[in-house]
Amino acid sequence: MKNEYDIIVVGAGPAGSITAKTAAEKGLDVLLIEKRQEIGDPIRCAEGVGKYNLEQHIEPDPRWICADVKGSRIFSPDGTMVEMAEEISGGEVGYVLERKIFDRALANESALAGAEVMVKTRATDLIIEGNTVCGIKLMHLGEEHEVRSKIVIGADGMESKVGRWAGINTSVKPADMETCAQYLVANANIDQEFCYFYLGNEVAPAGYIWLFPKGGNKANVGIGILGSESGEQRAIDLLNDFMEKNMPEARIIEMVVGGVPVSGTIDRTIANGLILVGDAARQSDPITGGGIINAMDAGKIAGEVAAKAIRNGDCSEKGLQEYEDLWRDTIGREIDNSLIVKETFVNFTDEDLNSLAKSLQNVNFTSMSLMDLLLALFKANKKLLWNLRGLF
Ligand code: FAD
Repeated sequence: MKNEYDIIVVGAGPAGSITAKTAAEKGLDVLLIEKRQEIGDPIRCAEGVGKYNLEQHIEPDPRWICADVKGSRIFSPDGTMVEMAEEISGGEVGYVLERKIFDRALANESALAGAEVMVKTRATDLIIEGNTVCGIKLMHLGEEHEVRSKIVIGADGMESKVGRWAGINTSVKPADMETCAQYLVANANIDQEFCYFYLGNEVAPAGYIWLFPKGGNKANVGIGILGSESGEQRAIDLLNDFMEKNMPEARIIEMVVGGVPVSGTIDRTIANGLILVGDAARQSDPITGGGIINAMDAGKIAGEVAAKAIRNGDCSEKGLQEYEDLWRDTIGREIDNSLIVKETFVNFTDEDLNSLAKSLQNVNFTSMSLMDLLLALFKANKKLLWNLRGLF
């Protein structure tokens, strides 16, 4: 470790590794630090991603792909199933990853591009001079160090402190948090080519239960419920109920708990000498809670903008504004649209969900895009279109 770098990236998740890789490829001197001793472990993720978007960043590798998913089966509260499969969608669907290997592969790519990677290295504070971030304080093997940089990238995930240290309000109200619990189970006995979703206020208030194939008859079985709607109910209890009723033969071999912010975008993700990316910038999707692809997309933009700012000799908030503009124009727009849809669906009763599922049963989806789904919903329910008018 040196005393100074062009950029220091805090956190080696998908956001941090892609930022570090992109910046290193642009010739920057990059330090990527990760507080854990093993990148990618423990995971807090159901590990589902869209194929097309993933492949924009990395060549698929069987070592970190557990399942090649051909479609989804969505169950409404009365058991009505809507199937969206590859044959009818005519398009790409998704992968279920092994993130313990995937996250390491991404960090490895950043190292191969020239970034210095340090594990068991925790950022403990920022170095701020005047009103500009000039580096970080870190703890490595019990020793404190100060390391300076032109830009610090906060890629430290959901529990991000980097933004807060820089005076950016990244707080999420409990009501805007999807509380999640998940088991990796053996003996799942599901079709390994499908992801399953179970909706309904009894199974998952203002959320859903997912079942993602992990290969070899294993699956991630998880639940996400919205803080504002779930009252006293605990995600883990609802998940246990579901398992007991629907998969009594499954055996738990790993457990994950965590939160996903579903409140939409925050006001600011840059400061003088600082950029936030991924979950640290609250860039996950308010409907699905998915954040891997958004984190990678934002990381790429951040790496490119950081390189440009350093080349131009302007790492002030103004010099980094392009990052803010570019991600809001792409990822931000999708998040805003998802928020409108989420706020409508949160108010759906089980009867609404059942009637929607019935109206979608015979729809021949031409693709699995959100817009196609909404168009089908519109045809089935004109009132819904009014609620979703902000999207059009
Ligand atoms: P992270 O992956 O959280 O990485 C942040 C890294 O920073 C961590 O490695 C952490 O150890 C490190 N770090 C934190 N603080 C410090 C520090 N002070 N110093 C050094 N290092 C630090 N998304 C999907 O796309 N698909 C899914 O199926 C999906 N399922 C999910 C299920 C659950 C239960 C949960 C909780 C989330 C799920 N997500 C899913 C969301 C997804 O996991 C995140 O959006 C994604 O990991 C964000 O990547 P990131 O790099 O921003 O943050």
